[in-house]
Amino acid sequence: MRVRLGPQALLALAAFLAATVPGSGRAATPSLELDVELDPGTRRFQAVAQVVPASRDFRFDLHESLKVTAASVDGTPLRVDRAGRDGPVLGWHVQLPVGAASLRLEYGGTLPALDRSLDDRGVLRGLPPMASSEGSFLPATGAWYPQPAPLFAYRVTVSVPGDQRALVPGRLASEVLPPDRAGRYRASFEFAERATGIDLMAGPWVIREKIMSRAIGAPLRLRTYFSRELDAVTGLADGYLDDSRRYLELYGEEIGAYPFTEFSVVASPLPTGFGMPTLTYMGAEVLKLPFIRATSLGHEVLHNWWGNGVYVDYPTGNWSEGLTTFMADYAYKDRESAEAARAMRLGWLRDFAAVPAGNTQSLASFRSRTHGAAASVGYGKSAMLFVMLRDAIGEDAFRRGIRTFWEQHRFRLASWSDLQAVFETAAGRSLASFFEQWLKRPGGPAVKIAHAGAKKEAGRVRLTLTVEQSAPPYAMRLPLEIVFPGSVVTRSIDIGRQRDVVTVDVDALPEGVRLDPDLRVWRVLEREQLPPILRQWVIARAPRLVQVSSVGDVREAAMLLSKRFFETPAQAASQDALNQGTEPALLVGLHADVDAALARAGLPPRPVSLAGRGSAQAWTIARAAGPPVAVVSAKDADALRALLGPLPHYGAQSWLVFDDRRALDRGVWPAPGRLIAVQDDR
Ligand SMILES: [Zn+2]
Repeated sequence: MRVRLGPQALLALAAFLAATVPGSGRAATPSLELDVELDPGTRRFQAVAQVVPASRDFRFDLHESLKVTAASVDGTPLRVDRAGRDGPVLGWHVQLPVGAASLRLEYGGTLPALDRSLDDRGVLRGLPPMASSEGSFLPATGAWYPQPAPLFAYRVTVSVPGDQRALVPGRLASEVLPPDRAGRYRASFEFAERATGIDLMAGPWVIREKIMSRAIGAPLRLRTYFSRELDAVTGLADGYLDDSRRYLELYGEEIGAYPFTEFSVVASPLPTGFGMPTLTYMGAEVLKLPFIRATSLGHEVLHNWWGNGVYVDYPTGNWSEGLTTFMADYAYKDRESAEAARAMRLGWLRDFAAVPAGNTQSLASFRSRTHGAAASVGYGKSAMLFVMLRDAIGEDAFRRGIRTFWEQHRFRLASWSDLQAVFETAAGRSLASFFEQWLKRPGGPAVKIAHAGAKKEAGRVRLTLTVEQSAPPYAMRLPLEIVFPGSVVTRSIDIGRQRDVVTVDVDALPEGVRLDPDLRVWRVLEREQLPPILRQWVIARAPRLVQVSSVGDVREAAMLLSKRFFETPAQAASQDALNQGTEPALLVGLHADVDAALARAGLPPRPVSLAGRGSAQAWTIARAAGPPVAVVSAKDADALRALLGPLPHYGAQSWLVFDDRRALDRGVWPAPGRLIAVQDDR
């Protein structure tokens, strides 16, 4: 979802909320009626605005490319003053006469050109309004319209040349396809609920439409706005329409009826991934990727409930990314398999483990994704909070909480404490300490079993565990795996101090115990629980390449692979590098040479699960000491060359089997954590 509010807007929002206490007797709802004429080719923008501001003392911002040319109330001209500048944004001020509620403004100018050099990071930082014939984006944060109040209703009519189409979030009230009298395309959109901003998009699109009937309420209008090239990809537009319908039905059922009457998938010339009310605006290149419909589309559809349906009260923290990640990305993995869901939790905890200590922020202080460390908290930790919450209060109470949250807060600002309140009601108990520790504290606990002992008592076995955690201690319910000869049972233990002694009664003498092997609790993982994956080699700062075959074309293929695989060029190293130094080493060669080199270096042999399969294999070696080692082993030079394209894309894996260019099988090494032996306490 896009970031909507800058610091100034946040201050204005706080002031606005303070001014809207019940009984303060405000006049009409703030609203904006906008008539826009945009010519992307020349970047000319002309608009007439009818504004009902929150107060007669009306201050608003416009991008420096836009100038107010006239202002009036009921036909009487009015003075407009400039009021300061904040970077490229100019402040304006109008004093409405007593009794006047509505103001007419004419403004316009030549917009900046679309900056195609922006990468996804640049896009995340907030953009000015930009136009070009290949695509125009006037973001809500780009100050391209006079905003009447932090929350307001609007109606926007936009007119573009006949080969262009344009839209803003909202209900499509009318549409005139060219050729109209002037050969232009013209459409009107209404947003009757209180919106936080308006994004305007235009492009040389082909529109496809499907109407979806609903049991209750008006039918939904589903659309794609794709470039001619994208629209020509067989099945792509239809696939997006069908999958959008599927997600809208799913979340309508799970949360409450979809609050709008349209949903559109709109192609952007920029690498965006924005969810706005009634639409998602995604990079055209992104839309072509095969997995987007299975993941990101659902995530963006869900933002119509979380973020664009219930608004985020940013000063108190952004809960919407975590809840959306939990109910979309994570839910899809959960439905796929228990292993896939665990792999996603491991990914969050791995990213968290990679954030340098002291660089972590609390979840309550997360506003939006600006760097990787923030994403690890705002998406990963936040989604994990909901995993832990559902585990703590149960599926039924969790679902009730979600539905109530939607009913009570739709089109209003909501905070973490509003979420806490609905889940407390649903669970029938206080969740104060739960929310307090996971939201307010940065980082996470490091927990370990310091001692495990067992004693036979009257036909039963009493297991006594000493559990230690870092300071300040967290109150946690931790799954405990108890391993018996031939069987495994899972119980849970409650801890809350830096050192806890807990007892568990079992039927027989266990061999050992393990804390939370399934990774259901947010914490600092031990090295044993972080299986090595290829990305650690891909991003290594000074990687080393160890060639173990002497055949010329094999060595040449290995060099090419190394160039493709590592982000920083690898140094050629001798076989000693497998046991010396600290930087990751990649061992490459033909099968027999690899096996011999592993034996010479005293490293574990080729895993049995990979031996003899496919034309090439790659795997990482989990070892307690020594430099990290990964292996690429091929049957011949061609098999090695076939990996140039695919291998760098599998950074999230610990091992792969390839047949030529195709990955036959892949996975992450199991890493349940250390098994703590149970001592006989007689
Ligand atoms: Zn999102």
